Amino acid sequence: MRLVLLGPPGAGKGTQAARLAEHFHCAVVATGDIFRSHVSNGTTLGRLAQEYLDRGDLVPDEIVIDMVMQRLSQSDCEKSFVLDGFPRTVAQAEALDTKLAEAESPLAAALFFEISEEELFRRLAGRSAALHRSDDTEQTIRHRLEVFAIKTRPLVDYYERGGLLLRVDAIGAISEITKRILDGLEQRSTST
Ligand code: ADP
Repeated sequence: MRLVLLGPPGAGKGTQAARLAEHFHCAVVATGDIFRSHVSNGTTLGRLAQEYLDRGDLVPDEIVIDMVMQRLSQSDCEKSFVLDGFPRTVAQAEALDTKLAEAESPLAAALFFEISEEELFRRLAGRSAALHRSDDTEQTIRHRLEVFAIKTRPLVDYYERGGLLLRVDAIGAISEITKRILDGLEQRSTST
């Protein structure tokens, strides 16, 4: 099962990514986590990425694409993976498509987490207090939501055109949302 998770920050992608990976016995590739670990280890990539993360801006496409393509070339991603936080731009989606087409291993679906802005603010403010993530201040949250609307939202149309979009109502209990996703995937596989 090869999946990508799309949705604004705070929509619960990370939580569901972990649950889906457990269900399908596959790796999660979460770009935000990879960048944060590079930042805390003080690598060259981390030093490059930090200013973007702190501002809530996207790390430039060429850097992210390179990093994710390398990760997907590792053997644990050969058959299945859950991508959380990538793609976030059309250029990233195209790079992913090219790579998967070469390997003749298309995506099963792109899950789009649908959630209202009020609920997002509530969740992100809570996460900021709990996790002390440096990019969870109110100003950066606002900025990340804008970046999502401008750069990432077009991917909803992109994947809809490709017949891969699965909309998920992202409000509800964690296990209920997982069930919605698994039911949605099941329906797709029986209707095609
Ligand atoms: P959230 O789910 O709160 O948006 P992530 O942990 O997915 O946060 O990402 C945190 C930050 O990492 C982003 O704000 C961005 O700076 C960087 N980042 C993660 N994925 C990408 C990507 N695909 N393209 C560009 N930047 C990215």
